[in-house]
Amino acid sequence: MLPTVACIHRGLFRSCAGLSVRMISRGIGQKGILANRVAVVTGSTDGIGFAIARRLARDGAHVVVSSRKQQNVDRAVAALQGEGLSVVGTVCHVGKAEDRERLVDTVVEHCGGLDFLVCSAGVNPLVGSTLGASEQVWDKILEVNVKAPALMLSQLLPHMEKRGGAVILVSSVSAYVPHVELGPYNISKTALLGLTRTLSLELAPKGIRVNCLVPGIIKTDFSKVVRTGASESEIIDMCSVLLLSRIGQPEDCAGLVSFLCSPDASYITGENIAVAGFSSRL
Ligand code: NAP
Repeated sequence: MLPTVACIHRGLFRSCAGLSVRMISRGIGQKGILANRVAVVTGSTDGIGFAIARRLARDGAHVVVSSRKQQNVDRAVAALQGEGLSVVGTVCHVGKAEDRERLVDTVVEHCGGLDFLVCSAGVNPLVGSTLGASEQVWDKILEVNVKAPALMLSQLLPHMEKRGGAVILVSSVSAYVPHVELGPYNISKTALLGLTRTLSLELAPKGIRVNCLVPGIIKTDFSKVVRTGASESEIIDMCSVLLLSRIGQPEDCAGLVSFLCSPDASYITGENIAVAGFSSRL
């Protein structure tokens, strides 16, 4: 194991030389349940993805942070650097093939391979009726939310094999109970439950587990669309299933992802797990 670790570290330090990659490694995070492992988290410069990236790094993983905008990547990397965590950052719009390719190149060149892929990037460009959605809206939602995780994984898979890794997709409780006026989004998040089940079957022979995080309402920019105009107590009243009487925080999702990556979850695959203060499915 040690030569591999040294190699990863040399690779990470090499990336300081620059290009579009920012690298930070201060030697912290070498202990922890995910020590010596490499994780990619898409959509990880803010919200749930950022909290997951931070938690995986705190638990010892080397984390590749990414999102569409360079300034957001720089800001997220700087914040994690400030905590002494080991991260690499690169721009990746998950819906763009060339960006996914660059992310793969970063992983191979600077990390030597990959153990965990967390697909947190997601979009919802429409508030309105399902049948009122334009073809462009359908294409964008399905491309970013459903196709991109599958395509990203297919590009990264050759670099994950023989490492016993894990994949975590990010769905939503709207897959179980649809939000009114978020039709195509609800449908895309339901599709991710199917993707989780199918990929878990296909990748089990390779020793790769695939599970799904299912957040409820989490306080981020993304959820403003369902929170706008309502106070926290009004939202709690609206969501009678919020038994824990509060809206979730991004950090509430991060521990589950770390667990699903860890050896403690080595007999768990194909599952979807809600982090929602209760959920109405059996
Ligand atoms: P958020 O706070 O708005 O953060 C979104 C992150 O993704 C940002 O870092 C953003 O950075 C990046 N991003 C957006 N589009 C991207 C793309 N096409 N490619 C790559 N990165 C992209 O959102 P969030 O609430 O954390 O949501 C994360 C995931 O959780 C989504 O899949 C969402 O469907 C799911 N979810 C959220 C909630 C909730 O209540 N918040 C509930 C259920 C499920 P850039 O702008 O730089 O790209």
